[in-house]
Amino acid sequence: MNRPDDHGILFTFDNSYGRLPERFFARLDPTPVRAPKLIGVNVELAGALGLDPQKLSSKETVEIFAGNKVPAGSDPIAMVYAGHQFGGWSPQLGDGRAILLGEILSGDGERFDLQLKGSGRTPFSRSGDGRSALGPVLREYIVSEAMSALGIKTTRALAAVTTGEQVRREDMDPGAVLTRIAKSHVRVGTFEYFAAKSDTDGVQILADYMISRHYPKAARAENPYRALLDCVVKAQAELVASWMQVGFIHGVMNTDNCSITGETIDYGPCAFMDIFESDMVYSSIDHMGRYAYSNQPRIAQWNLAQLAQSLLLLLGDDEDSAISSAKAAIEAYTKIYEEAWLKGMREKLGFKEEDEGDHALIEELLDLMAQNNADFTLSFRSLSNLSKIANDEDEAMLDLFDLPVSLNDWLAQWRKRLVLENSNDAARKIAMRAKNPGFIPRNHLIEEMIQAALQGDLEPFERLQSVLANPFDDQPDAAHYARPPKPHEVVRATFCGT
Ligand code: AMP
Ligand code: MG
Repeated sequence: MNRPDDHGILFTFDNSYGRLPERFFARLDPTPVRAPKLIGVNVELAGALGLDPQKLSSKETVEIFAGNKVPAGSDPIAMVYAGHQFGGWSPQLGDGRAILLGEILSGDGERFDLQLKGSGRTPFSRSGDGRSALGPVLREYIVSEAMSALGIKTTRALAAVTTGEQVRREDMDPGAVLTRIAKSHVRVGTFEYFAAKSDTDGVQILADYMISRHYPKAARAENPYRALLDCVVKAQAELVASWMQVGFIHGVMNTDNCSITGETIDYGPCAFMDIFESDMVYSSIDHMGRYAYSNQPRIAQWNLAQLAQSLLLLLGDDEDSAISSAKAAIEAYTKIYEEAWLKGMREKLGFKEEDEGDHALIEELLDLMAQNNADFTLSFRSLSNLSKIANDEDEAMLDLFDLPVSLNDWLAQWRKRLVLENSNDAARKIAMRAKNPGFIPRNHLIEEMIQAALQGDLEPFERLQSVLANPFDDQPDAAHYARPPKPHEVVRATFCGT
């Protein structure tokens, strides 16, 4: 493969994962594509990573983003992992259509994976073509960046290119490659891969690696591996709580899509809810509703139990103590999750103090939203604008509910609660607007954007991206992006497109 002679001018690589034993990955270059063309570069992220945005749009860089050239200092690998998919065990998955180019260090020395997704076949491709279609690439770009702007931990999109080639999905679609940035791409499934092979050395090498890269404090604990497990439990509990608070449904919470760093990863048939419905499922492949909105917290805990199982031999000197340590770590999840959820929901309701009735009050609002087909995002956003004293402004919120009067009692209780903590309207409204977004990547907007892109029009992609970059701002000229779908626009199912 042609390696440009830029001597790391663009990226400063330091590839620690590639220095792990050979059985952790396959070493190979991305497969070149016919005619790469830039869709977009994330200038804001590039800046945060200390990259030169101007160079990122150069012809040579587009070749890098397409996998046609490997930048100096890169050590391309496909990572191996296993996973539980919809509860069923797959002993070998791995990067079947992704290549980790290496790790780059940001201006302040933070380490990030630079990965191409859709970059050709690897030894882990199984029957897949190793490619990505344009639609799913744009979806991941938009949704991951929207999540980041919402303050939710996530992998990010640095760039996207089209390949000039077609991929066969339901139809023939244009091929594309996403350049993804992650704290790292190690998953629960990576640990499961070694554990299932009874490769305890492999599990330990991976655990030591993750501790030193992400959770260095764990190294000083009495049992560093239990401390690692505790850190991942906390990271996942907080992550899923943050999803629940914006109505996000991941759609494929398999253990291979469950990151050890607690970042949201692998945006397939994911969706944000419009109308609140607690059992909502959008994914066209989730026939049993395993990954329904309301199941997400306990599925994350189930995934963490698979991690605990994989680490078991490192958790104690004998089987009994290891099992009781694993159990304690997994049981702790419930409380951490509940606390993170309650803290975030209190903020969404504008409460600064804690009251023992808060949990019930929140559940009651969610029930009312469900009974009244109220839009999740707009209900919270419009609540942010209400005052302590009922007035005409209430209309905007009441209008979202099928039977507006059914909300009256609840609003009276909410106001009583605000009075109880001496809440200041002006300050509270600002605080609530900073927690309750007006803009989310609604499914119908994504659909509209993808359809336009397939016709060669990237303007909706760019516009959607710029609106979603500031989800908590009032953007009066972006009303189209705030409103829920009209009945004929509602998207009921989302597809992997893989
Ligand atoms: P995902 O649904 O993206 O989480 O992928 C699950 C597994 O299938 C991973 O091992 C992927 O690398 C693999 N995979 C998904 N799509 C493809 C494809 N088009 N070609 C090869 N492997 C794929
Ligand atoms: Mg995956």
